[in-house]
Amino acid sequence: MAGFLVRRILSLVFGAYAAMSEDLPARDLDTRWAIMTHPTAPPARAIGGVQAGCLAGAEELPLAGAGYQRMRPSRRRGFGHPALVRAIETLSRRVHKAADGVLLIGDLSQARGGPMPSGHRSHQTGIDADIWFWMPAFARDRVLTTRDRETLAAPSFVPVRSDFPWQVLKLAAEIDSVDRIFVHAAIKRHLCQLSMRIRSPEDFLWLQKIRPWWGHHDHFHLRLKCPADSPSCVPQAPVPAGEGCDTTLAWWFTEEARRDAEKQKTLARERVRLPSECEQVIP
Ligand SMILES: [Zn+2]
Repeated sequence: MAGFLVRRILSLVFGAYAAMSEDLPARDLDTRWAIMTHPTAPPARAIGGVQAGCLAGAEELPLAGAGYQRMRPSRRRGFGHPALVRAIETLSRRVHKAADGVLLIGDLSQARGGPMPSGHRSHQTGIDADIWFWMPAFARDRVLTTRDRETLAAPSFVPVRSDFPWQVLKLAAEIDSVDRIFVHAAIKRHLCQLSMRIRSPEDFLWLQKIRPWWGHHDHFHLRLKCPADSPSCVPQAPVPAGEGCDTTLAWWFTEEARRDAEKQKTLARERVRLPSECEQVIP
């Protein structure tokens, strides 16, 4: 009987592990970060770079607040540096006020940041968040059920839909702590065309923060600047001057860009070396 139980427990444990490993070969996984359920105590610190880092003293974004509801809570990726939680709250309040809409929030980071076994290469330091483009009216009228949060799928907005909520991107880019926002290149192009139709140029200076990237047809990715309280946070190169509606945008529609998409998938599978400071963030 005891032998049966041990075998049963082992098969459950390794079965769960195999399920987690589906996306990546097991040798590339660092699952220590994914199993953390609680953050370390404050103070908050974003440590390292967004693609190789971790997060101390994280805050969890509540499941719902003024102007937003959080999706996929079972993934336990609702944690961020407090500056990120504040930015999401600010954006949600402004969207709610301006458009009476409710944002659906996807992944932030794990409780202690670090690499995720699936889905993302970045989001490791608590300064990144995914936000859906879709703002269904029912999310404004009622609290979503657990089933809604886990099963509703984000619809694609590419080719760019007539109800594309570009004002949300403007409101997001206008938040000081936001460094850049990633969207599908077709969405960036749409915004550039819009800026040419509705002009005065100074109205579209916010386009500088909107950067094309692979994917991002059903959500945008908000990235903050390194918070002032995080000396070990590695900032990215500043976004280039200008609105980015030039040849650098045209590149995204070339064969070379399509080939690079494959390279990105390989990169995402590489194991990263975390800063040594992260050893203090998980035991
Ligand atoms: Zn993202």
